[in-house]
Amino acid sequence: MREELNAMLPHELKDFMQSNGIAGFRGAQLFTHFHKHQNQSIDSVKGFSASLVEELRQLEAPIGQAEILERIQSPSGDTIKYGIRLTDGQMVEAISMIYKSHNTLCLSTQVGCRMGCAFCASTKNGLARNITAGEIVSQFYAAERDLGTPIQNIVLMGIGEPFDNYDEVMRALELLHDPQGRGMSYRNMTISTCGIVPGILRLAKENKPMNLAISLHATSDEERKKIMPIANTYSIREIVQACDTYFEETGRRVTYEYTVIPGVNNKSSDVDHLKQIFSGRNAHINLIAYHPIKEYEKSHPNEEQLHAFQKALEKKGLTATVRRSMGLGEDGACGQLRAKMNRKGEEA
Ligand code: SF4
Repeated sequence: MREELNAMLPHELKDFMQSNGIAGFRGAQLFTHFHKHQNQSIDSVKGFSASLVEELRQLEAPIGQAEILERIQSPSGDTIKYGIRLTDGQMVEAISMIYKSHNTLCLSTQVGCRMGCAFCASTKNGLARNITAGEIVSQFYAAERDLGTPIQNIVLMGIGEPFDNYDEVMRALELLHDPQGRGMSYRNMTISTCGIVPGILRLAKENKPMNLAISLHATSDEERKKIMPIANTYSIREIVQACDTYFEETGRRVTYEYTVIPGVNNKSSDVDHLKQIFSGRNAHINLIAYHPIKEYEKSHPNEEQLHAFQKALEKKGLTATVRRSMGLGEDGACGQLRAKMNRKGEEA
């Protein structure tokens, strides 16, 4: 039995109610309260008497919380970055990306990260803790309430490595998928990993047709080891083979995220390596502009450099796109806003 009330599926809430002497159908009402009406408290629950609410409160079951404390909007208005406070006061980030046809939300799955990627601000102080399923869904609901319009897609590309918090992440996605709540299709969910092979293979067996994205960022194991410690554990070959399995099991094409760092990974030899890795594979390469952080002082690629690399890949017969710029300036890099808010907290 799970502890957080807003991390229980309908049948678990039913069991929870019954085991506490409350009618089982109240479980479905409570699930709707959390996941359709997007509440984070039980101060009042539609259909519950005040005495029933009090009875529930007496059980002291926790509810995963996420509250937006800071909101930074890009000048064009189509990207909003949120600083979000979790149940125990820890800070994380989420980003809404507003497109003409849909909205996408990028969510965090851990407070900090222990993967140690050189270019990433989120990992600089290591991992503080995992984010619970109740907190992950609450991030989503908080952002959706803020936007005032539905969010169609989720990408787990914020702070943390989702496969390092596999069970809570999967639970959160099940909650968002449940037809009695938000009813989001698994096809609109993307999990992004730095390349944890057992996680990829486990997800392939889940029978949940989610999208998988791999943070690749280098084209040889030697270069990858310089910027991503996980490369010491899993080679590019092992990762790509696991992705082949994922594609065979789910029919979902895998996306490879590639942060373009000028002079580091946009050389013509990188184009050749990518050709070797992906030719004959149904893969999509998504190019992302590197956002400088002070611990890794490389330059930010300009549009010309990004598109030149994209064209070079296309010339080799590979499918590559350039991700839209966030337009968030110095707070754009993942983990920057959290670091800034933590500093503010320390100074206060
Ligand atoms: S890029 Fe992702 S996996 Fe790597 S340290 Fe940052 S949050 Fe962790």
